[in-house]
Amino acid sequence: MSVRVVVAEGDGVGPEITRAVLKIIRAAEAPIEWEPIRVGQAIYEQGNTSGVPADAWGAIRRHGVLLKGPITTPQGKGFKSVNVTIRKALNLFANVRPCKAYAPFVASPHPGMNLVIVRENEEDLYAGIEHRQTPEVRQVLKLVTRPGCEKIIRYAFEYARAYGRRKVSCMTKDNIMKQTDGLFHQVFDEVAAEYPEIEANHFIIDIGAARLAASPEIFDVIVTLNLYGDILSDIAAQIAGSVGFASSANVGEQVSMFEAVHGSAPDIAGRGIANPSGLLIAATQLLVHVGLSEQASVIKNAWLRTLEDGIHTPDVHREAISSRKVGTDDFAEAIIERLGSEPRVLEPVRYRTTRPIQVSYRTTPTEQRLVGVDVFLGWDQEGRDPNVLAEHLHRASTDTLRLGLITNRGVKVYPDGLPETFRTDHWRCRFKAEADEIPYARVIELLQRIDQAGLRVIKTENLYTFDGSPGFSLGQGE
Ligand code: NAD
Repeated sequence: MSVRVVVAEGDGVGPEITRAVLKIIRAAEAPIEWEPIRVGQAIYEQGNTSGVPADAWGAIRRHGVLLKGPITTPQGKGFKSVNVTIRKALNLFANVRPCKAYAPFVASPHPGMNLVIVRENEEDLYAGIEHRQTPEVRQVLKLVTRPGCEKIIRYAFEYARAYGRRKVSCMTKDNIMKQTDGLFHQVFDEVAAEYPEIEANHFIIDIGAARLAASPEIFDVIVTLNLYGDILSDIAAQIAGSVGFASSANVGEQVSMFEAVHGSAPDIAGRGIANPSGLLIAATQLLVHVGLSEQASVIKNAWLRTLEDGIHTPDVHREAISSRKVGTDDFAEAIIERLGSEPRVLEPVRYRTTRPIQVSYRTTPTEQRLVGVDVFLGWDQEGRDPNVLAEHLHRASTDTLRLGLITNRGVKVYPDGLPETFRTDHWRCRFKAEADEIPYARVIELLQRIDQAGLRVIKTENLYTFDGSPGFSLGQGE
């Protein structure tokens, strides 16, 4: 029985590399029925700012698997990236990027590199919730959820199990972001305990990124939050040797999208010289995903053999190691001729058919109690003297909620601040209750008093305990 897969050839070099890739897959006799859709430039030009027309959404949702060529995102207001639109709308929570060196056939400073980055794809700083709060200060909300962490981390371990990988490394900055990154690390430790056969370790992202750049061969699977994953995967693709080889899978519970990492390369579009390897490797990820592991292995091994035989597209061609410089179509023909052959120097792949990776997450009942409030003020008066601000706030305090602390950019300026600390026009004023729970009406009462004192409240964050533990970072000196 054949599998139906949706294909969007994309813009720029997209059509040439997609044609080449589909030809190779057909020659490998993978039982796939392709359903073409149009997304990208032509659709933007019709005035559709998402680049994805209604019938394309229908096809993607019906069949659940999409092979996508690169898309040119028009410059200018209002146009949304097709990638971001599809990723967000269809809940593609995992971005999986294998990064492997093919030295000595493709030059790489790290010949032993063979890792996979599993990046959380939906949360973190990418929710796009940004505000200007005062003349001087803007903020972005970093949102990290327990289900989001659990899904991506479980996915990373299940992936390691399915692909015979031995180690999963987590990267966070939880020494600084104890709540958000701290949650990711905590869930990593919990999930890792369920996979005793897989080694698990954690790196602070800065040293982790440095180790990745210097010694990528020490990593196997890396799982991390959205922004770190974005940066790490570009570093890894670059140091592997060629961004033209990098592929990515965007995986969701119902829909998955497979693509090359590179863009539409308008500078070489239509010249027949683009390297189809990134999209071809993405297609082999797709074949494994739909259960056609045998054909994926045959194609990947033929591709490895083609590289070994020195048949290279101009982007990776080097006089010293290449034997023939070929265009997109001839490269595809060379792969087709080698279907059934295996590489002699590079290690051949043997993909196994695995059950689809399922992820789950738990929700546990938690007791949430209101114990205070952080009131953020925009205040630019009286020399920005925190002791003067504290006097105003002490007068506005109620019997229930008393001022405990003022910080400016997170640094304590009251009580006992240092005169050297830089002060902007944005103040976080923490009011805590003695009681172990207060009604929200007490917060409203406090806010009214602060407002009546002529102070500008720009936002508030409630302080809660969860099963008795504080759900907020503790200010210095608390
Ligand atoms: P790009 O990846 O298209 O090109 C960067 C350089 O790499 C160019 O010199 C190009 O010729 C070369 N290159 C890229 N792919 C190649 C291939 N397969 N073979 C040989 N050489 C290749 O990046 P860009 O120029 O910054 O972006 C061009 C367009 O692509 C933009 O509109 C951008 O928004 C879009 N883009 C799309 C995606 C996607 O759809 N996934 C990703 C990145 C960029």
